[in-house]
Amino acid sequence: MSEATPKQIDVLVVGAGFAGMYMLHRLRALGVSAQVVEAGSDVGGTWYWNRYPGARCDVPSVEYSYSFSDELQQDWDWSEVMAGQPEILEYANHVAERFDLRRDIKFDTRVTSAHYSEEQRRWTVTTDAGDVYDAHYCVMATGCLSMPNTPDIEGASDFEGAVYHTGQWPHEGVDFSEVSVGIIGTGSSGIQAIPVIAEDAKHLTVFQRTPNYTMPAHNRQMTDEFRAEAKANYATIRQQQRDSQAGIVGYGFGFGGADLIMPSDHLLETTAEERAKAVDEEGFGAIRRFIDIGLNPEANEMACDMYRTQLGRIVNDDATAEGLKPRDYPIGCKRPVIDTDYYETYNRDNVTLVDLRQGGIERITRTGVQTAQGHFEFDALVYATGFDAMTGALLNIDIKGRDAKPLGDVWEAGPRTYLGLQVAGFPNLFMITGPGSPSVLSNMIVSIEQHVDWITDCIAHMGDRQLQAIEATPEAEDAWIHHVNDVAKGTMFTSPSCNSWYLGANIPGKPRIFMPYVGGVGAYRKKCDEVVENDYEGFELTA
Ligand code: FAD
Ligand code: NAP
Repeated sequence: MSEATPKQIDVLVVGAGFAGMYMLHRLRALGVSAQVVEAGSDVGGTWYWNRYPGARCDVPSVEYSYSFSDELQQDWDWSEVMAGQPEILEYANHVAERFDLRRDIKFDTRVTSAHYSEEQRRWTVTTDAGDVYDAHYCVMATGCLSMPNTPDIEGASDFEGAVYHTGQWPHEGVDFSEVSVGIIGTGSSGIQAIPVIAEDAKHLTVFQRTPNYTMPAHNRQMTDEFRAEAKANYATIRQQQRDSQAGIVGYGFGFGGADLIMPSDHLLETTAEERAKAVDEEGFGAIRRFIDIGLNPEANEMACDMYRTQLGRIVNDDATAEGLKPRDYPIGCKRPVIDTDYYETYNRDNVTLVDLRQGGIERITRTGVQTAQGHFEFDALVYATGFDAMTGALLNIDIKGRDAKPLGDVWEAGPRTYLGLQVAGFPNLFMITGPGSPSVLSNMIVSIEQHVDWITDCIAHMGDRQLQAIEATPEAEDAWIHHVNDVAKGTMFTSPSCNSWYLGANIPGKPRIFMPYVGGVGAYRKKCDEVVENDYEGFELTA
């Protein structure tokens, strides 16, 4: 590949998901030159790649959508409370067309390296297509869940049937009607895909290493009345989202917000009879009312018991129900999962659960999976095994900061950032929803918009004052990491029995560090605003 002449650009953005798309829109309005580079063939990021059967968002679409353009939110009509992947992708396409984004996005191109020159105070960015960009700023909109994880299981390449990963699903879809399928993984993706694949497939064998706690989604078609009400109330809804803990106010779930239950009761103060009655009357919903579940391990275990009781009522076969029951880790330590008919699916004749706690996978064979419990045969294998989350896509790029220091070295013991926006030693490089920000603990569109707005304002500030470089100071970074760890302490997220991808626990050898910021999007936004008010406190700005 011959070395191309570097293209001079103000801002190079990596990724054209919701983050990269909005970043481009804001940069254009600022009047700077911007180029987006995207590995996929079109916009949408997560919703472009994750086309597996059953994929949908689990945040009401009224809230999981851009707020930056009132015309956009008034014009767009969601068909369901929580839209499916095809509709979200259609929305991303609509946004790309409406704001004419594609002309500044180079598709089918992966950024391979980004190197900082201290002398020039600029980044040299290269791609697998041989492009070279010389950019003042580099914005990583690479996504927290964009680097699929396929576990290294012995014999994987021996399997002779078709192999799929939920995070890289074929665009043309897959017809499983004459096919027996094996699926590995019961996280959000597996739990969404299993009921839908089971309806289609000849037989479905589910390989479950850790059962999850999952709540019924109660998804519905959107009514015209609700759509109109939401549109009339958007200003309030958006403000409440921005000030909230997780960027979700539950407006869409409750068709008006009335059904949103804010937990306030204490499970520890209930009697066994009261708990049994609550499960009788409310099913899984019984545990939503109790605030101490998130704070007290004993209350949490009571809630887990209530959960298991309800699960046992849905699944007919006792051994299968036992196999599906999560134990030994608290509710709330992993990303919440919501589902449609997940447990009911195990009552079908064509579905088999393999509870790997009774004997794990030994190897993949030509025709299936060999476990310590026996051999299971199928025609097609689906990996629903998740992602190298939060740091995977960033570390997949050869990023070198000042003194050619690789990001991989700086993050050897886990990610270190100031506000999840910048890393000391990497001037003029920004991350959108980087580790150390609320990101994956929130409705991510709210967090994306906040970061994009902050970065845009920062670049404008730099231009106005003719400043050349902005960089987090090591002291501010240390203090922020300390704070991030402090607020996570004592929460279910960091419980010793919790093995979540928030901690990097799903990737062998990955440092075990709790990566997102638990403090909430409202408090975090305030902190970011204060930093600006205090003249970019914690950053060094260079003329
Ligand atoms: P992404 O959408 O991941 O986009 C990043 C883009 O960067 C990708 O297209 C990728 O190809 C590209 N890229 C990465 N590295 C490179 C490179 N080196 N060169 C070029 N391009 C690169 N969040 C919620 O808040 N609510 C939900 O209900 C929800 N549901 C989800 C369902 C699924 C199946 C998954 C996987 C995630 C879900 N998320 C949800 C999280 C979701 O990732 C975010 O909501 C949001 O879509 C992230 O947007 P993004 O632009 O930051 O990243
Ligand atoms: P995930 O939550 O990491 O789940 C991966 C699953 O694969 C887990 O059950 C894991 O088991 C299993 N697994 C991994 N390696 C394995 C191995 N070697 N052998 C057996 N099992 C193995 O990934 P995901 O389901 O793709 O979800 C990732 C995130 O994407 C979610 O948490 C969420 O943030 C987002 N998402 C959201 C939605 C939504 O509803 N909107 C849908 C999909 C994804 P262990 O638990 O034992 O590790």
